[in-house]
Amino acid sequence: MNLLLKKIAHETYLLSFEGRLCSNIYLIENELGKILIDAGDEKTEVPLEPDLCILTHGHFDHTGGVRPGWKNVLLHEKEFSFSGPYVRIPKNAKPNPMKPLKFGAHLLEFYHTPGHTEGSICIYDKGTGLLFSGDTKFAEGMVGRTDLGGNEKALLESLALIEKIPYRLLCPGHGKLEWKDG
Ligand SMILES: [Zn+2]
Repeated sequence: MNLLLKKIAHETYLLSFEGRLCSNIYLIENELGKILIDAGDEKTEVPLEPDLCILTHGHFDHTGGVRPGWKNVLLHEKEFSFSGPYVRIPKNAKPNPMKPLKFGAHLLEFYHTPGHTEGSICIYDKGTGLLFSGDTKFAEGMVGRTDLGGNEKALLESLALIEKIPYRLLCPGHGKLEWKDG
């Protein structure tokens, strides 16, 4: 599989693989190390070892690519007890402390945004203005499915919360990226 890296912001890349589709995988890389956001499905071979892997939720198409040897893999605590279908919790995943994380020019803030799953999160990089929205919000006004054990009311509340975040570029878990103001 040929890895394609597309730069989307300062020190931030969208990973894709020639000839195959999986969830969007994002990489923040600088002199301090590598942070991966989501990991694709089990057929995804991410050719790097992240210092930290942050999962937006527990669905297999986002978590399956996590390798057993990765040391810091974080998932919201509610996802460990969430019983919806298609959930695949990597054995090495630990509860995300959800505390802001400074990483050089990046400042990651974590938002619990249930609805698609109970433990879905969004990650806002205050340094670059990017919002990694997992399967909660997509481009063109599309929103996450709630028929996989999710909750529609919770999703609406999460979408309202997202609208208060002053992000510039939406970086969803699938499909294309979208600038907030056209
Ligand atoms: Zn999902």
